[in-house]
Amino acid sequence: MKKLLLSINNLSVNVEHKKILSKFKLDIKEQEVHAIMGPNGSGKSTLAYTIMGHPKYQVTSGKIIFKNKNILNLSADKRAKLGLFLSFQTPLEIPGLNYFSFLRNSYISTYNKKISVLEFNLLVKKQTKLLHIDDSFLSRALNVGFSGGEKKRAEILQLNLLNPSLAILDETDSGLDVDSLKLVCKSINNLKKENPNFSVIVITHHKKILDFLKPDFVHVMNEGEIIKSGDKSFANNIEKNGFTKIIDEYKKLKPK
Ligand code: ADP
Ligand code: MG
Repeated sequence: MKKLLLSINNLSVNVEHKKILSKFKLDIKEQEVHAIMGPNGSGKSTLAYTIMGHPKYQVTSGKIIFKNKNILNLSADKRAKLGLFLSFQTPLEIPGLNYFSFLRNSYISTYNKKISVLEFNLLVKKQTKLLHIDDSFLSRALNVGFSGGEKKRAEILQLNLLNPSLAILDETDSGLDVDSLKLVCKSINNLKKENPNFSVIVITHHKKILDFLKPDFVHVMNEGEIIKSGDKSFANNIEKNGFTKIIDEYKKLKPK
């Protein structure tokens, strides 16, 4: 039987004193792909940041259990060491921080082991080839002057190097052309093949990425909670009909 990897229960979260997530609940087992869709501002990115431990997102109730550990008191770097990874909706540009050094340092701190520049270079070059990233990017500052799609591919390269147990992809498909989207999804599907406990949360507005990643579950979020879940075919329904009907139906049934 597949083991539970992440269990979120009764999670409420404030940002700047405003309640964004409300009694949120989600269980993810090993080797599962969960898609999260929902209107703008429904709290999808808030959920991603909260799982990763961003200090601005204040948990007011509930639990996040990852690999049988309550992670709420752990800092983001400790969560990364445990096997969590977040690909940002808007990756930050950091002038002066060399992309290659950034990758090597995050690898060393996540795995807690030294790796020579030469050895690491071999690992990275394998990934740049797979993701069609020009090697000249490695000597540039992190994300500075990268196009939207290049930033997303640069993050997926980092994901491949760190090989986490749970990857959260926050709108990774935005800004990617269809060829890049295929490359990115292929490398994510490879991680799934190679790592028996690898699971993914895909936050997206588009069905296309789900055609490649084949989610086991598709959830719709609205006003900080999951209001409906279904299987892969649910995404077709959402693309065709939007969220309004789903939200109205939920509001009619929800106890006041
Ligand atoms: P989604 O990713 O579903 O579009 P978000 O989680 O980004 O939604 O945002 C949910 C709500 O929380 C929005 O109303 C947004 O303005 C607010 N919010 C999120 N992050 C912050 C922040 N750092 N400061 C202030 N408000 C925020
Ligand atoms: Mg968002």
